Parts: sequence; C-alpha cells; structure tokens
Amino acid sequence: MRLLIVEDNQRLSEWLARLLRGENYVVDCIPDGESVIEGVALENYDLAIVDLGLPGIGGIDVVRHIRAHHATIPVLILTAEDAVKRRVEGLDAGADDYMTKPFEVEELEARIRALTRRSGRLVREELRYGPLSFDQNTRQFSIGERALQLSPREHAVLEALMRRAGATVSKEVLLEASYGFDEEVNLSVIEVTVHRLRRKLESDAISIATLRGLGYVLRLAQP
Ligand code: CA
Repeated sequence: MRLLIVEDNQRLSEWLARLLRGENYVVDCIPDGESVIEGVALENYDLAIVDLGLPGIGGIDVVRHIRAHHATIPVLILTAEDAVKRRVEGLDAGADDYMTKPFEVEELEARIRALTRRSGRLVREELRYGPLSFDQNTRQFSIGERALQLSPREHAVLEALMRRAGATVSKEVLLEASYGFDEEVNLSVIEVTVHRLRRKLESDAISIATLRGLGYVLRLAQP
C-alpha cells in the first residue's frame, strides 16, 4: 500500500515516513502543494496525508485538487491544535478525517487503517486466497497458521499480487507498489523480490507464476 505525505516540515515528514515504512507502507513525501498540483500521479496512492499549513498553495487547495482529480483516494489532514476553523474547512474541501498536531503515532496508524479499509478498495478485514491470508488490521500475511516474515518490499509486492490474485500483474505495477518515486531502481529488482517471496511462501498450494513479458500472477495449485 502506498501513501503520499504532503508536509513542509521536513523533520516531521521524514519521521512519519520512517515509522510508516516500518509498518510496510511505501511512502512518498512532498514538501509543497505546487508539486502535487503540477503532477503527482494520484492514482498511484491508497491514501494522502496533507498538512493544512503549507507555504504557497495551501493544504485546503491541495485537498480540493486531490478531490477534483481523484474522487476515491482517502485524505487525512494534519492541523495545528487550535485550528478548528481550518479543520472544518479541510473537511468541507473533501478530507475524510483529520489529526491535530502533536499526535500519537498509534492513533494516526489506526486512522490510516480505518480510512484505507473504508475506501472501497479494501472492504474486508481479511483477504484470503487459498491458504494465504492477509489480516488488514495487523498487516500480517500467513500461510495457514504460519506467519510470514517479509521485508517491506516483499510485503508490498505480495500485497499487490494478493489484491489482484489470479490476475496478471505487470512488473511496472509491482515496482510502483513497492518503491517510492525518489528511489532509482529498475525492473530487475522485482525479479529478485519475487524470487525471495517464492522461497518464503514454501507452499505447494500457492505459487507466483511468471508470464514472460507480461508479469506475474498469484496462483493456486490445480487440485
Ligand atoms: Ca506546515
């Protein structure tokens, strides 16, 4: 799952990004509203976190822009403690929820989970595909009773495959899902990640098949 943070306070956004990456989210940070409006591919994101106190183009306009161009992406706004009026403006502009600074990270994470569950892409608490399950609250993959220990990249790739289980997913889509835009990588890293994932799945019942030139597909073994 990929998150966008729009926040001019670099220390705050880096701290937040590090924490969320630790929870296996892929995170991109943007320090200003101009960059969002001038061409961030919003469809790549599952949620946007927008600080309302941005220099230049303000957070409210960023929220309006996101709403106008991408109706379904959940938007969480960050506001200063006493800014009730701004918060109301933000919600009226189309934000789904808010956090006031300073905030507890556990609460932010819970709100992110709630918003992404509600967004329509995720409706159930648990995704299942054959023996593989993914608990959307703990963000843990398991095969049967065995919890999988995955790196953040492996987690992101498996999550992208799981959400389209049975369908072909291109390397480009997997790269989008697992790397932020400031990371210089090429498609071959996906082959390495898939190779590692296959070893960790260790199941006869489920496999990641390669469709040469097309991508990968998460498949159940034929009975
Ligand atoms: Ca700010």
